[in-house]
Amino acid sequence: MIELTGVHKSFGTLDVLRGIDLTVAAGTVTVILGPSGSGKSTLLRSINHLEKVDRGLVRVDGELIGYRQAGGKLYELGEGQILGQRARIGFVFQNFNLFPHLTALENVAEAPISALRRNKTEVYELSRALLARVGLADKADAYPRQLSGGQQQRVAIARALALEPRLILFDEPTSALDPELVGEVLDVLRDLAAAGTTMIVVTHEIGFAREAADTVIFMDEGRIVEQGTPAQVLDHPRHERTRTFLSKVL
Ligand code: ADP
Ligand code: MG
Repeated sequence: MIELTGVHKSFGTLDVLRGIDLTVAAGTVTVILGPSGSGKSTLLRSINHLEKVDRGLVRVDGELIGYRQAGGKLYELGEGQILGQRARIGFVFQNFNLFPHLTALENVAEAPISALRRNKTEVYELSRALLARVGLADKADAYPRQLSGGQQQRVAIARALALEPRLILFDEPTSALDPELVGEVLDVLRDLAAAGTTMIVVTHEIGFAREAADTVIFMDEGRIVEQGTPAQVLDHPRHERTRTFLSKVL
């Protein structure tokens, strides 16, 4: 479903991704762990071409992201085509990034109406159903400032779902939340996982990784150091760097 081959990315002289090869099967949950600065966010951003990689290829459902190939050469796609690809890949950020001047319902409905030009009545109906799915049926008319962090993040997840994405990327979706609000967001992620949503989740929530992940990846210094089932990576890490990291977050 998702395939990264030989992905490299530098910022100036800083090599942030140093050859990432990664395959994610449809309907699976991949959790990415790793210390701050190891390149986790850059990796997620590379998948939907928010970062343009220096080398390597990203494919989603066999489709090259950001480029088309012709006569053995790569040509970057135009902005419209890139936005079209990106619309099929959900992205949920640490800081929710809701539109402050729109209600919860309008936040969810905005992209399908403005970017996909879908029928308003249908989109509003779908958006209400999605708010109900994340437990916020009664908050449709609330503005972000009237919602808790956990509720805002659940709106952000409903907003990602509204585009009927092929996969959803989550970048530390609970790390900006007060501890008592983390559970309600992780519950939504567990529901999505159980429904067969393809997800890549960067998180330090080891408990979630253990229960919900099919694959756990440990990244350090721009490389995938270790990859396997939760039991393999969390309970029997093979690399010293993984052990050191886990001893700090567990
Ligand atoms: P992580 O999400 O694992 O904490 P990031 O992918 O955000 O790591 O960042 C990896 C490294 O790349 C960090 O050293 C960060 O400062 C650097 N970096 C990320 N984005 C940029 C950018 N746009 N310009 C320059 N450096 C960046
Ligand atoms: Mg990050």
